[in-house]
Amino acid sequence: MVRRTRDGQTGKPDRSPTNRLGIDYRDVPRRKVACHIVDAHCHVHSVAEAEVFLPAAETYGITDVLTMTPMPEVSALREEYGNRLNFIAIPNWRAWEVTPTFRSQWVRDLERFRELGAVLCKFWMAPPMRGQHGLTLEHEFLQPVIDAALDLGFGFMTHISDPAAWFEPGGRYGDARKFGTWRDQFTQMDYFLDKVAPQPVIGAHMGGCVEDLALLQGLLDRHANYHLDCSATKWIVRGVASQPDVAREFVIRNQDRILFGSDLVTARQHDFDHYASRYWAHLQMWETPFRGESPIEDPDAESPPKLAGLDLPADVLEMLYHANAERLALVRPPFDGDGSVGPLRPT
Ligand SMILES: [Zn+2]
Repeated sequence: MVRRTRDGQTGKPDRSPTNRLGIDYRDVPRRKVACHIVDAHCHVHSVAEAEVFLPAAETYGITDVLTMTPMPEVSALREEYGNRLNFIAIPNWRAWEVTPTFRSQWVRDLERFRELGAVLCKFWMAPPMRGQHGLTLEHEFLQPVIDAALDLGFGFMTHISDPAAWFEPGGRYGDARKFGTWRDQFTQMDYFLDKVAPQPVIGAHMGGCVEDLALLQGLLDRHANYHLDCSATKWIVRGVASQPDVAREFVIRNQDRILFGSDLVTARQHDFDHYASRYWAHLQMWETPFRGESPIEDPDAESPPKLAGLDLPADVLEMLYHANAERLALVRPPFDGDGSVGPLRPT
């Protein structure tokens, strides 16, 4: 039930960007399934921020988190939270430059993350990589890094596009000569998925392609190693609400290829409601027949932003929430008994 809170002084509804409907996020809606949940896409940046984030995650049944954490913070987080956090290898973005020196450090970071138990490594190839550095996954600069990751037994997570609306004239990627068109972003995936097969690839944010699920289906059909996560809550909520029947059919058809994820990024200023709002929206979207407004402000959505529940079958929810991540061995103790980590092999 939606409970509205009121501002004590004005008596008007209290409408923060994460709670424009005044929902009590601690009052978790009735769940369709009682299973544990793996959030396969988070960015947990420090122990202090995790202390606010994890209680919100736990409230919504999240037992395991895959996080892209800067290397200097990994040890402290692992010590504090043990196997609840699983790390995805990332380069030191603050030092990013297209130089052999940076690339060598990236490979060394991959090795260190592997020692720390990471089974996935992230390649963030959003449009600015093309626009500012001329890079896609096909570029020669990246091949030694991809080869090193393969030698280390990594699977991959990729971010290759952003919302289609951002490519419209006047949008942040409106200059197609610089960024390519929205559709141009996806051609690199055929190359990459072939190159790294049979290692699994998780295409973040529904492969960056929630606006065109037919295009995405083609990639899934051509490449058995391609998987998706459903993270980036506003983007996915918007995409699903614009075509709920198509989205429901897509998720059911590809139920063994999609992993649950939020793309929550921890930050000092975020409170319980910020984190919980994303999990609340996902719960409604996947588990219920909810039709109405999204509680999260979304500058890219029509006003008010819509949320459509897909009321997925319970066995499909189990696949999304944990079974797919477990089958891909993405959540497991960071260390085997002898302290070593075996290579990730698709099953
Ligand atoms: Zn992310």
